[in-house]
Amino acid sequence: MEATPDATDGLVRALPDTLASKIAAGEVVQRPANALKELVENALDAGAASIDVTLRKAGSELIQVLDDGCGMGPTDAVACFGRHATSKLRRFEDLESLRTLGFRGEALASIASVSQVELKTRRRDDEAATCVRADGGEVVDVSPCAAPEGTCISVRNLFFNVPARRAFLKSPATEFKHLVEAFQALALSHPHVAFSLVHDGTEVWRLPAAEGDDALAIRLGALAGGGLDGRLVAVEESTSYLSVTGLVAHPDRARRSRGEQYLYINGRYVKSRSLDHAVGSAFGALLPERRHALYALFLDVDPRHVDVNVHPTKTEVKFDDDRGVYRFVQAVVKRS
Ligand code: ADP
Ligand code: MG
Repeated sequence: MEATPDATDGLVRALPDTLASKIAAGEVVQRPANALKELVENALDAGAASIDVTLRKAGSELIQVLDDGCGMGPTDAVACFGRHATSKLRRFEDLESLRTLGFRGEALASIASVSQVELKTRRRDDEAATCVRADGGEVVDVSPCAAPEGTCISVRNLFFNVPARRAFLKSPATEFKHLVEAFQALALSHPHVAFSLVHDGTEVWRLPAAEGDDALAIRLGALAGGGLDGRLVAVEESTSYLSVTGLVAHPDRARRSRGEQYLYINGRYVKSRSLDHAVGSAFGALLPERRHALYALFLDVDPRHVDVNVHPTKTEVKFDDDRGVYRFVQAVVKRS
């Protein structure tokens, strides 16, 4: 039977896409650093050999990511702003990798819904590049333009249309700190890619591509400001449950702050008080008081045993065998 809605019926409707993305943006982009991470990850996924980040006003005015990756054709340059638009996931069976790597096709739509975006992109064999401009998630202009191979995406005035969230941002110094942390975490886990970071016209980082077996040590040394030559110990060990690889610095290179403790689980930068503690305690009395070990450790675990995606932006982790992982990391670091 066909029902004709009356005054108190027919009230349930699907949200318009831009509104849905704006709501999702509350999860995906809470601060400029989250947007930067998503944009750099897209550049890495596109196979970039070089990534240049330009920021203005701690990202609130501009977050620009230039890459020399595969670029997009004119159709995809528009489609990529669509909600749940992704080239990385086709089948439900891929969901497990989606869960761990965060391919959800949500990032660009979310970022675009709360900012003013300009995207310039060109594939190698295309004659012209495509320039797309979007305002609050609505595509307002698409035109051919000239641009090098790859993609340049400029995100301006983040949260311009969500004043409550813009007001919620911390001081520029704090937001900048988060941006730099996100940048460094991505740069460290991709030493073969050249990176640069410019903020308000000042070069903060210029990291040339590091090659060979020592690539990670070279990149870590660059990020730590040098002085690590011969002071890094390689870590490599695995069980059927988990494997750990990476570098731990000699205790005489320990830091006053926790800023240089790089921990990755299945390729993803995470924070774990518990695992930081595991590494610290492995040093025991070797570590001077109130100093923190300097390290870059990459843990690989079967995705079924780890929950990194408890929240899309929170970099917290949970293992189904937290204590076992703790003891293993502690033992491995102690041995090295
Ligand atoms: P996801 O990365 O989860 O697929 P995004 O919203 O981050 O979702 O990106 C949507 C799609 O846009 C990607 O799947 C990719 O095809 C395309 N894309 C985004 N950024 C780039 C880039 N820098 N170079 C090439 N393609 C890109
Ligand atoms: Mg992405």
